[in-house]
Amino acid sequence: MKKSQEMLADMFGQNVFSDKVMQTRLPQNVYKTLHRTVDEGAELDPAIAEVIAAAMKEWAVERGATHYTHWFQPMNGQTAEKQDAFLTPHAGGVLLEFTGKALIRGEADASSFPSGGLRATFEARGYTAWDCTSPAFIREDPDGVISLCIPTAFCSYAGEALDTRTPLLRAQEALSRQAVRVLRCLGDTHTRRVKANVGLEQEYFLIDRELYRRRRDLIYTGRTLFGARPPKGQEMEDQYYAAIRQRVSEFMAELNEELWKMGVAAKTQHNEVAPSQHEVAVLFDDAVAACDQNQLTMMLLRKVAARRGMAALLHEKPFEGVSGSGKHNNWSLSTEDGRNLLNPGKHPEENIVFLLFFMAVIAAVDEHAGLLRMAAASASNDHRLGGHEAPTPMLSVFIGEALLQMVEHACGLSERVFKGHGEISTGVTTIPKLFADDTDRNRTSPFAFTGNKFEFRMLGSSESASTLNTVMATVVADQLAQVADRLEAGDEPVAVLRDLFTTHRRVIFNGNSYSEAWREEAKRRGLVEYPTTVEAIETLTTEKSIALFERHGVLTRTEVISRAVVREDAYIKTLRIEARTMVKMMHELVLPAAMRWQDELAQQKRHIEAAGMKTPVQTGQLAFVSGQVEALARHLAELEEALRRLHSTVSCENAREWRDAVLPTMAEIRAASDALETVLPRDLWPVPTYGEMLFHV
Ligand code: ADP
Ligand code: MG
Repeated sequence: MKKSQEMLADMFGQNVFSDKVMQTRLPQNVYKTLHRTVDEGAELDPAIAEVIAAAMKEWAVERGATHYTHWFQPMNGQTAEKQDAFLTPHAGGVLLEFTGKALIRGEADASSFPSGGLRATFEARGYTAWDCTSPAFIREDPDGVISLCIPTAFCSYAGEALDTRTPLLRAQEALSRQAVRVLRCLGDTHTRRVKANVGLEQEYFLIDRELYRRRRDLIYTGRTLFGARPPKGQEMEDQYYAAIRQRVSEFMAELNEELWKMGVAAKTQHNEVAPSQHEVAVLFDDAVAACDQNQLTMMLLRKVAARRGMAALLHEKPFEGVSGSGKHNNWSLSTEDGRNLLNPGKHPEENIVFLLFFMAVIAAVDEHAGLLRMAAASASNDHRLGGHEAPTPMLSVFIGEALLQMVEHACGLSERVFKGHGEISTGVTTIPKLFADDTDRNRTSPFAFTGNKFEFRMLGSSESASTLNTVMATVVADQLAQVADRLEAGDEPVAVLRDLFTTHRRVIFNGNSYSEAWREEAKRRGLVEYPTTVEAIETLTTEKSIALFERHGVLTRTEVISRAVVREDAYIKTLRIEARTMVKMMHELVLPAAMRWQDELAQQKRHIEAAGMKTPVQTGQLAFVSGQVEALARHLAELEEALRRLHSTVSCENAREWRDAVLPTMAEIRAASDALETVLPRDLWPVPTYGEMLFHV
């Protein structure tokens, strides 16, 4: 359907209790007081909550809402909500009620959310508290329920953060505080707040729902645990940016509309590298808003796909042998009037504000590489990182030769100044001359400077971006604090810049980060690789990390430890579910199918030989199938034994044991199963194949 510009303008944000809506619906003094709270991080005046609640309810009810829900983000990286009806019985009739108290505070049983030991058993209650810096919005569920969603923080009775939003809010505060200090020293007298802006690119697979329903591994674990390679994968490079198929394009249109209504500016969409893989990028926004919007995007991807007879797979590696899915996190810093501090301008070598902030980010990556790796660590992302389409599990920063030379020059370490590549001519006069990007885009780097922002590419497609952005803001705040300390003590900006550069230049790498040569070189430079989630989580609970989070008021020691526990717990549980799913599918589906074929081959052999013919083909196949069946059964027994033996007690050692016992055995089982799949007749193979799933839509 064609849409006019007015229709689009009306649609965008129509379900958001936005600043514009508040301005028209709130009394002026209330609106102003609320704004002060939001802009300056002041405390919320409870007296105005009553008025805001009334206005919110009226607005929501006009749009058909019957419920309100405190919407929060527990430590499992997902979103949670409890819906309450506005409806209250009153004097024989009903009243639609929503009080200031109900807006500000809610109660939820915290015992069913991961708390990492934070929630003492005698105090199971958790509290949700309105985050007035994030706009409330209306959600229309396909089942017809329309509810007013109020973004909230989630904390324990003792005030400890039980969610991913609270630490992110605290980290953004810390970042602002330190950035403003640095700006003051550099002669900026007016900036009062600095925030991190984040733009997230979300990759996903879309497959037919009927096929999805027939793969219990996809349903239980999000990925296929086995599946032979189809004759065609992504080797023709005919999928990336290709014309989008009708069914997918209709899906994207509906997704966009749903997102736009909720004020999520879905901007770019295209086919990704693997067959049936796609991407949607949302326009950047304040880090907290961007993380919220990404949660909404993930939710809507699933819902809209289901509505259209498809399944959106958000797992990092749903299919082996083709590219996995990530979530690129584009990151910059801006002042309240929208100035991007990471914008190099025309003469970066003279732009000391840019240079100091730029180098502070690079220093932060070098200093706390392990924490950044941790923020992207999960059992599912382990299958993607280090593969040939995704960053290695080690941090380095790409800035390009041009900027490198400019920084060296600005530090007084080199005479050379990069003059740029000049113009690129396409040789076709009707195509405008393109200016060569000074920072040629490097696709292999885990952390790349791309013009006026940094792009972190390790994060997995299914992960919440909140933890990563909490870490980003905290580690950068810490570097800025050190810069401010020195500047306030009277050190020259250039001297500070030079020290940052010489100390941290080892993390800068402009070459191919996927190459073996780089791994060797990185080792020489003393950079650390964190091959799996287990090593990455360990960085969280070091004294250095705990001190960092405490220093900036982002997380207390107990809050840090609880997060490590939650991650270890999730890791072990994921592996346990995967192992159990594999056991079940092998026993119920693969082994019986393979044994049927074994039996049929044996019968064929007997019958044919009885007819006096030779059976070299049957004999060969029977031997092969028997060998694979035997190997599969043997490794399956090992896996079952491991499941009986391994404890689920949460600890780093246990996580390591699970990893070392379960993953290699599952790989053996998979190898046998995939070998069987390649020889079994299609009518005997019990589940949809890779080819059918990847090339169906
Ligand atoms: P690519 O695929 O080349 O990495 P995309 O256009 O898909 O680029 O995505 C770029 C993302 O970066 C978008 O989400 C965009 O909004 C975001 N972005 C652009 N400028 C900034 C900025 N200054 N700060 C943070 N994010 C930004
Ligand atoms: Mg990108």
